[in-house]
Amino acid sequence: MFRYLFSRFECENTPRNFQKEIKIMENHGDHSHLQQRKKRRLVLFPLPLQGHINPMLQLASILYHKAGFSITIIHTNFNSPNSSNYPHFSFRSIPDGLSETEASTADIIAFDMLLNVKCAVPFQDCLAELLGGGGGDDDVACLITDAVWYFTQAVADSLKLPRIVLRTSNVCSFNAFAAIPLLYEKGCLPMQDFQFETPVLEIPPLRYKDIPIIETHDPENLNRFLKDMVKQTKVSSGIIWNSFQELDELAMTNLKQEFPIPNFPIGPFHKYFPASSSSLLAQDQTSISWLHKQPPKSVIYVSFGSITGVNETEFQEIAWGLANSKLPFLWVVRPGLVCGTEWLEPLPKNFLEMLDGRGQIVKWAPQQEVLAHSSVGVFWTHNGWNSTLESICEGVPMICQPCFGDQLVNARYVCDVWRFGLRLEKKVERGEIERAIRRVILEAEGQKMRERIMILKDKMDTCLKTGGSSYQSLESLINYIMSF
Ligand code: UDP
Repeated sequence: MFRYLFSRFECENTPRNFQKEIKIMENHGDHSHLQQRKKRRLVLFPLPLQGHINPMLQLASILYHKAGFSITIIHTNFNSPNSSNYPHFSFRSIPDGLSETEASTADIIAFDMLLNVKCAVPFQDCLAELLGGGGGDDDVACLITDAVWYFTQAVADSLKLPRIVLRTSNVCSFNAFAAIPLLYEKGCLPMQDFQFETPVLEIPPLRYKDIPIIETHDPENLNRFLKDMVKQTKVSSGIIWNSFQELDELAMTNLKQEFPIPNFPIGPFHKYFPASSSSLLAQDQTSISWLHKQPPKSVIYVSFGSITGVNETEFQEIAWGLANSKLPFLWVVRPGLVCGTEWLEPLPKNFLEMLDGRGQIVKWAPQQEVLAHSSVGVFWTHNGWNSTLESICEGVPMICQPCFGDQLVNARYVCDVWRFGLRLEKKVERGEIERAIRRVILEAEGQKMRERIMILKDKMDTCLKTGGSSYQSLESLINYIMSF
């Protein structure tokens, strides 16, 4: 069974060409906001995990380039972003007080809760100093924090500063998270094995096995964590979503009944500019030169994101499944993906040599560029929301292997609602992998998936253009912030 883990990343990447990024942003739309808004500052506080840092820094870039706000990023010492990639932002580091053991725990809920405790005082001090003029002459319009930083609402209230929440998942999975405490109260959770396939009436179309439970040493912790996150989101000044109206329409209607605060689906964030520069690991560019040599729509791109891990047996099943498919593959094997190993030690002997160039393994890929490459035919993913959205944006169908949390919800939507993916069940087995790959790349079923995902991709392209849903939502967000 897949597991999840995370650890301290070293910043290895080098500064990118920012002039190019700014130029593209400037060509993207109207910039009447730029002049009048130069003097308002936004303070943003990302959660220090790759899947949360990326969207927060993308959002910062959008609000800087599209609206002319000045930007201050407050960040923890743990997994601090590479500030040299953002010369136009100012960065404030706060001590998180995490020990090595605490920073490398596999218990993500305990980790998030601990951060909410340990960062409270340093964050309050840092923000108070910024408000007292320590951040330059601009006046601070509002605070934008990840939804997981629930303690920041009390800080914002005490400093009389509006707080807007960035939720880095989509609306469907947020609704599912919000329903978990209620399901516990009703006695429907914890779930029994026989319930797995039963539909959850409160959050259609999910089944019990899709409920985004995250394992933690004390099950009561998850309940407490979710209650705090939901409660402090509800009393915030609004929610920004890295999603778009056309994708999350029904879920958004349901959400508004429970959360009658302003909602701004302005995504997909990464499409406002060429590629992400907030990667904590160096992205191996040989991925792209290798892709150039492969036939169109033939490559299986495999990545399970920055946290999910596999055991040795699963790793070997994946390797054999890929090899037996007889199709080219690009596989991201993060150091530490297989617990207790450095990198590729568990790979079958002479594996890559045997494939004669048909397989390429990298430690970390420029994922958005990979997915945009014409040679990629399918994305075998853990369905983290960023990966799922990036795949939709490039019209690449998915093989879904969710592990925990919102990945379970995303996979259900990809496979059963949007219908451009196949789900692998939890046991990783080479025969099943090979069949899934061949179904998506070679068979008519895969072609149908490709057609369906292209329809959504077109909608996504439209939503960012003048008058489109995300374009309008961003305008509303900017005006809203200016009203503070
Ligand atoms: N990513 C990347 N290179 C890789 C694998 C992932 O740049 O080799 C990026 C990916 O583009 C995405 C993020 O890392 O933006 C992963 O976020 P996601 O929400 O998909 O998963 P998480 O890491 O939070 O589980």
